[in-house]
Amino acid sequence: MFDKPTYIGRFAPSPTGPLHLGSLYTALASFLDAKSQQGLWLLRIDDLDNPRNIKGADALILKTLAAFGLHWDRAVIYQSQSISGYEVALQRLQDDYMLYACQCSRKTLANDEPCSCRDKRINLAIPHAYRVKTDSRVIGFRDQLQGWLSYNPAEQLDFVIKRKDQIFAYQFAVVLDDYWQGVNHVVRGYDLLLSTPKQIYLQKLLGLSMPKYMHVPIIIDAQGFKLSKQTLAAPVDLNRPERLIYQLLGLLKQNPPEDLKVKPVNEQLDWAISHWNPKALLNCQAMGLH
Ligand code: GLU
Repeated sequence: MFDKPTYIGRFAPSPTGPLHLGSLYTALASFLDAKSQQGLWLLRIDDLDNPRNIKGADALILKTLAAFGLHWDRAVIYQSQSISGYEVALQRLQDDYMLYACQCSRKTLANDEPCSCRDKRINLAIPHAYRVKTDSRVIGFRDQLQGWLSYNPAEQLDFVIKRKDQIFAYQFAVVLDDYWQGVNHVVRGYDLLLSTPKQIYLQKLLGLSMPKYMHVPIIIDAQGFKLSKQTLAAPVDLNRPERLIYQLLGLLKQNPPEDLKVKPVNEQLDWAISHWNPKALLNCQAMGLH
């Protein structure tokens, strides 16, 4: 008999601001899923998008997680430490004729609009992005909460893996980092569900194993908008962590008992790890605050 491989999960926030209730919710879900299976829970700071990074946000995120008892295993990884590794992987795809240079405008790139550079001769002296060629093979995967999903990546167009400003795209970096860190369970927000087939497509091209996926609901405000930095969601208050953990356990549909409310954070987390039941969130895509 082989031993079951260790569960390796992760939380990968971008340092574009402090954690809000929605991001802490995802962090807590991935922490509970890992810890309930005696797994490792890693922390990675996705800091590639320099123009969007906010100075000091990474330190604040670490402080917040610690205040909420969400202690990570191993040293924190920063994506910016891996640029040379991304270059090597990009070269491999290029050698396999899977990439092409694209000189579309920033606006076209941002909107994922159709681009015709695939069939053009591009002057490489001019700034260009790289897109990966997609084909019409169907990508299917079973999300642990959202069920079986299948997509045809060609319908989603050839996507950018390195931007014109030389920044590696999230889709590409995340696949490599998860692989290098040995991540075999990805628990993240439902808003990233549509990124998953793109990431699986890249895993296939690069010959990497596919982690298990669980996309947990997003938290929406009274107007139905996802809590996010764009909707100016308030940073979480570090002063009363036990109140917030209790609220989050409710939003994770874990039915925490009333008397847990006043217990210290660590006791609440211990209860939640031993009672973790992600199935309560089956087919759930959003949770309202009110
Ligand atoms: N860094 C990404 C974000 O903050 C999440 C990455 C992931 O979980 O795949 O939205």
